[in-house]
Amino acid sequence: MIHVENLQKNFGDTHVLRGISCEINPQEVICVIGPSGSGKSTFLRCLNGLESIEGGRAEVNGFALQDPKTNINKLRESVGMVFQRFNLFPHMTVMENLMMAPMEVLKLSRRAAQERATALLEKVGLGDKLTAWPNSLSGGQQQRVAIARALAMQPKIMLFDEPTSALDPELVGEVLAVMKTLAQEGMTMIIVTHEMAFAREVSDRVMFIDQGVIQEMGPPEQLFSAPQNPRTAAFLSKVL
Ligand code: ATP
Ligand code: MG
Repeated sequence: MIHVENLQKNFGDTHVLRGISCEINPQEVICVIGPSGSGKSTFLRCLNGLESIEGGRAEVNGFALQDPKTNINKLRESVGMVFQRFNLFPHMTVMENLMMAPMEVLKLSRRAAQERATALLEKVGLGDKLTAWPNSLSGGQQQRVAIARALAMQPKIMLFDEPTSALDPELVGEVLAVMKTLAQEGMTMIIVTHEMAFAREVSDRVMFIDQGVIQEMGPPEQLFSAPQNPRTAAFLSKVL
């Protein structure tokens, strides 16, 4: 589903991704951990075409990122992304936030978009907030709307970049619970997170990125309990 080979990315003189290689299979849940500035967000942004790649190859849902002829808009339709900041449209109700892209991009009828939006808001526990304004919701509720909005495009892959880092601690659990449900339903997910307990419980594999490369990748029980790379061990000793 995702094949990445020797992926390279620079920002000016900064060589941020220095040869990322990995294979991610359908329905896999991958948690990405690593120090600040190591390239985690850049990696996710490359995978959905928000950043161009400068070397290597990557194929996401059949779209070749290194190929200038690839239709990046089509790629993005198939890859949902949720950020630390929710970025909801403040002048639209919750339901309208979910309806916009399906109507504009997928050309769904208003009625079909409404039905899809309603079902997704029920799913994330916000069936009573259809007509609410985003700013009237808690951070956890807004993030659940953002997840539902991404799901409204029926993506094949969901990318999450620290989806709970901006939340008050008591609101983190409700967002992680939604993500856990998605994982159990078989959604292919890549999640950059500092929530190590969540990573251990939900991920099939954990990817440790440091200095722009995958230093180690493996099942959580192995990576957390018996890391093979001294860098992984050093990082974990700081965060666990
Ligand atoms: P964090 O845990 O703090 O979110 P990260 O692992 O997500 O860190 P990235 O945001 O991918 O790290 O950044 C990796 C490096 O690339 C950093 O040195 C950062 O300053 C640099 N960088 C990221 N985006 C840009 C940009 N648009 N222009 C210039 N440099 C950038
Ligand atoms: Mg980041």
